[in-house]
Amino acid sequence: MPSTTTSSPALSRRARREADAVPATAPATIRARVDGARAAFARGASRSLVFRRAQLQGLRALLRAHHAELEEAVAADLGKSATEFRLTEIFPVTSEIDEALRQLERWSRPRRAGVPLPLQPARARLVPEPLGTVLVISPWNYPVQLLLAPLVGVIAAGDTAVLKPSEVTPTVSGVLARLLPRYLDAQAYPVVEGGVEETTALLEERFDHVVYTGNGGVGRIVMAAAARHLTPVTLELGGKCPVWVDDAAHLEQVARQLAWAKFVNAGQTCVAPDHVLTTPELVEPLVAALRRAIAALWGQDPSRSPDFGRIVAPRHLDRLAGYIEAADGKGAGRVALGGTVDREDLYVAPTVLVMDEPDSPGAARTEESTPAVMREEIFGPILPIVPVGGPEEAIAFVGAGEKPLALYLFTASRQVADAFVERTSSGGVVEGACLIHVATPTLPFGGVGGSGIGAYHGRFSYERFSHEKPVLRKPLVPDTLALMRPPFSQLRGTLMRRLSGLR
Ligand code: NAD
Repeated sequence: MPSTTTSSPALSRRARREADAVPATAPATIRARVDGARAAFARGASRSLVFRRAQLQGLRALLRAHHAELEEAVAADLGKSATEFRLTEIFPVTSEIDEALRQLERWSRPRRAGVPLPLQPARARLVPEPLGTVLVISPWNYPVQLLLAPLVGVIAAGDTAVLKPSEVTPTVSGVLARLLPRYLDAQAYPVVEGGVEETTALLEERFDHVVYTGNGGVGRIVMAAAARHLTPVTLELGGKCPVWVDDAAHLEQVARQLAWAKFVNAGQTCVAPDHVLTTPELVEPLVAALRRAIAALWGQDPSRSPDFGRIVAPRHLDRLAGYIEAADGKGAGRVALGGTVDREDLYVAPTVLVMDEPDSPGAARTEESTPAVMREEIFGPILPIVPVGGPEEAIAFVGAGEKPLALYLFTASRQVADAFVERTSSGGVVEGACLIHVATPTLPFGGVGGSGIGAYHGRFSYERFSHEKPVLRKPLVPDTLALMRPPFSQLRGTLMRRLSGLR
C-alpha cells in the first residue's frame, strides 16, 4: 500500500494550483488576433528571409533576457529545478533556433528536379512556399519548449501563427503571453490565453495548418475540427513507450538511464519510458539497481531534493495515486520501490511496480484482463516492470498495444535489437539510452498510428510548415508536346505504346 503523507506549508502547492487560472480571452479578441495573423501573412510580412531571421533572433533574445522569469514560472507550475529547466525547456528551443538560423538560406533555396525524356526540353524546380497561418496548440508538460519549438519551424518556413499555451500551466502561459509580443511581430504571432473554450473557438477558425501537442482524445477533436476546413494537421500525441532490458552485465548503467528518463519532470514526459519488459530473473536485480540509481540522482528522500519535480495538478496526482493504491499484489502489481504520495505538495515518489507475468503477451489488453496502469499512459513517476518469457514475448506485447511514440532497447544482442526494429512499429527507437532522439535536430520527431501524425524538428519542421511547390518550365518552341495531341497518326500511336512500356 502507498504511504500517503500531507505536508502543510502556509499555502500548499495543491491549494495554490487549485486557485490558479489563466485569464479568459473574449471571442471578439480571438477573432481579431486570428484575422491579424492572417492579414500579416496576406501582406507578405512573414515571407522575407530578413524578417524570418529577425523573428528567430527575437525569440533567442527573449530566452536570453527572460530565462530567469520563465524558470520561476515553470518552477511555480511544475516544481522543475533550474538545471532541468535549462536542459529541457531552453536548450531544445535554442538549438532549434540556431539550426534554423544556420540553415535558413539552404532550406529556402529551390531544388532542381529531373524531367523525363519525353517532356524535354524543360526545367523543373521545387520551390518551398509558406503555408499561411498556423495554429499552435501546446500542452503543459514542457510548457515553454512545446509552444516555442514548433514556432521556430513556423517562423523559418515564413508562416504566421496563433499561439495557444496550455491553461494547465497558467504561470507560464501568462509570462509567455506578456513577453512574446515584445520580442516578435505581435500581429503575425499573437498569443491566445485560455482553456477549452478558447481552444474550441480557435478551432472554429480556418487555418492553413494546425499543430497540436497533447493527448490523443483531444487530438481527435482537433483533427475533426480541422477536417471541416480541410486543414492539414500535425498531431504530437503520447502513449505508452516500452523498454526492453536483457543486458544483465550492465544493469547499473541501464538503471541510471532509466531512472533519469522516467523520473525527470516527475515522469510527465511524452517520451518517458512507460514500462519495462524484461525476463523474470532480471526483475529483482533491476529493482535493486533502480533503487541505487534513484538514490544517486535524488537522494534517499527525493521529496527533499531540489531536483525532483512535482505533479502538475491535483487531478493528475489523484490518477497516479490510484495506480499505486491498486498495486496491492492482487493482479495490479506490487510496489517494489517508492509509493509515497503527498497530496498537498503534489508529490509522488519515484515508484517501481512489479507486475504479474501476462498469460498471453500478444493478447489485446482489456479492462478485465489488464490493470489501468498497463492500459493508460502513466505520465507520472511510476515505472511498472513486466516480466515476460523473452524478446519474442516482448515483441508480441509491444505489438498488442497502440504504436508507441518511442521504444527503448537495452540489449546485449544485435539480433534482438534488429528484431525489435524490424518487427515493431513506433515513432522512433533508441538503443542504449532514452529521450536523446528528441534533442537531435537532424532526426524527425513524431509518432505513428496512435502516437501521432507528422514529425518536426530542424529541417523536418521547415518542410512540415511549407509547401514544396513543383514549378515546371518548358519552352513553347520546339513544340515537342505535339506528339501527345490528336490527330493520332499510326506513328504517334506506336510512339505512345513504346512510351507506355507496351512495346
Ligand atoms: P493539455 O491539457 O494542456 O491540453 C493541450 C491543449 O489542448 C491545451 O491548450 C488545451 O486548451 C487544449 N484542450 C484540452 N481539452 C480540449 C478540448 N476538449 N477541446 C479543445 N481543446 C482542448 O495537455 P495534455 O493533453 O494533458 O498533455 C499531455 C499529453 O500530451 C500526454 O498524452 C503526452 O504524452 C502528450 N505529449 C506529447 C508530446 C509529443 O511531442 N508527442 C509532447 C508532450 C506531451
